[in-house]
Amino acid sequence: MNTSDSERLSSGFLQMGFDPSDDLDTADVVVLNTCVVRQSAEDTATGMLGRLAKARRQSTHRTDQMVAVMGCMVGPEQSDLKRRFPQVDVWARPQQFAPILETAGIRHGLDPEGCLTGAVPVNPHVASFIPIVHGCDKFCTFCIIPYRRGREASRSASEIVREAELMVERGVKDITLLGQNVDSYGHDLRPRMDLADLVERVHEISGLERLRFLTSHPNDMSVRILEAVRDLPKVCENINLPFQAGDDTVLVNMRRGYTRDQFLDKIAQTREMIPGVNLTTDLIVGFPGETDTQFERSLDVLREVEFDKVHVAQYSNREGTFASRKIPDNVDRAVKKARLGMVDELQQIIQTRNNAKLVGKRFDVLVEGSKRDRLHGRNRGDKLIYLDGLSTHDLRGQGVPQPGQTVNVEIVGSSPWSLEAELIGSSARQEKVPVA
Ligand code: SF4
Repeated sequence: MNTSDSERLSSGFLQMGFDPSDDLDTADVVVLNTCVVRQSAEDTATGMLGRLAKARRQSTHRTDQMVAVMGCMVGPEQSDLKRRFPQVDVWARPQQFAPILETAGIRHGLDPEGCLTGAVPVNPHVASFIPIVHGCDKFCTFCIIPYRRGREASRSASEIVREAELMVERGVKDITLLGQNVDSYGHDLRPRMDLADLVERVHEISGLERLRFLTSHPNDMSVRILEAVRDLPKVCENINLPFQAGDDTVLVNMRRGYTRDQFLDKIAQTREMIPGVNLTTDLIVGFPGETDTQFERSLDVLREVEFDKVHVAQYSNREGTFASRKIPDNVDRAVKKARLGMVDELQQIIQTRNNAKLVGKRFDVLVEGSKRDRLHGRNRGDKLIYLDGLSTHDLRGQGVPQPGQTVNVEIVGSSPWSLEAELIGSSARQEKVPVA
C-alpha cells in the first residue's frame, strides 16, 4: 500500500514539474512515507525526522527545504506530532496527497491543478498496484491499522476502472487490487457492490493480462469471489489468506472472528473450487499468552496446508491497540525468536519440496526486469522465476524478452524461494490453467 501511495504522490510531483532526487541535502522537498504497523517502523521514521532536524540546524541541509510526513504515522490527532517535530511543514494522512502538492506548489510557484486526482504513476512497473479500499473495520486486537488508516472506505468502481485503463495504456500487464481487507470492498458503496463485481469490470480492460487482489480476510472471502478467480481467465489463481494463529483461544484473544477449523474449511473450499491455487498466509508468533502447545497448533496448520509462502512476524506490543492496553506482552523475546526460527525452518522444507515438484513443468512468465543481473518474472501463481542464461546485459538485445512480454518457459531448477527456467518461446496465450 505504501509503495503504491509513494508512486502516486511521485507521479503528482512529476506532473507539476518537479524532478526526482536522491540527495537529501539538496532536495527542495522531502516526503517521508511512513509505515507504523510495528513500533520499530515508527521508531525508524521518528529517528529519520530527528536526523533531518539536526542536519537543518547544522545547516548541512537546505534550510528552506520543505519536509512532509504522510502515511500511517499521521493519525486523526496530530497535535503531539506537531509539538515533537516542529520542523515538519505538512502532516498528511494516508492517501492525502493534496496538502503536500499544494504546499510544494505554493513554495515553488507551480500549479498542482489536475495533478491531484487520479495520480497514476507516469512510468508504472509492468506489475502494479491499485488501492481500492482504504482502512479496516475489523479491529484485530494487535493491529494499529484501523486507528491510523481509519474505517473502511471503498473507492468508486468507475474511478478504479479509469485508473486501471490508464495504467494498461502506460504498459501495465499485471494489476493487483489492494486493500487492508480487500474482500470487504464495496459494502459501503451505494448501490452496494462487492469485490467480484469490481474484478469483473477490471477484467474487461483490453490489454490487461493478469489481475490479482490482496489481502483477504477469511471471513469475507465469499463464494462469489472464489468463483471470479475460478471463472475469469485473467484472474490469477493466487490468494493470500492470513490465519495469524492455529489455536482457537489465541484466535479469540486476537479477535480474528474465526476458529482454526473454520479457517481450514475455507482453505479446503478454496482448493476445491480452484484446483492448483497458490496459497500464501500471514502468521504471528509469540502473541501474549501463547503457550508452546498453542504455538505447535500453528505449526500443525502450516504442515497441513503447505502454503507456498508464509509472512511470519514476532508479536510486538503496539501502543494504541487493544492488546497493548489489556493483554500483557508476556512471551519472552528469546521464545518468540525461537518460534520464528521454527516457522522459517519448517517453511523452508515445505517450499523446497513443493518447488522441486515444478521442475520440468512449463509456465507462462511475465518478464518484469532483472535482479542479481538476471532476467526474472512471475507466473500466474506469483512464483519468482529467473530466466537461465539471460542477464541484464542482454536486456536490450535482439530477440531477448523485454519487461512486459509474456514468455513460455520450462522450469530447470528450484530453491525454496525461487525457480530457474529456460526459455521456450513467446506466449500470447491467456489460458486458465491450474498453477502450482
Ligand atoms: S483485518 Fe488486517 S488490517 Fe484489519 S485489523 Fe485485522 S490485521 Fe489489521
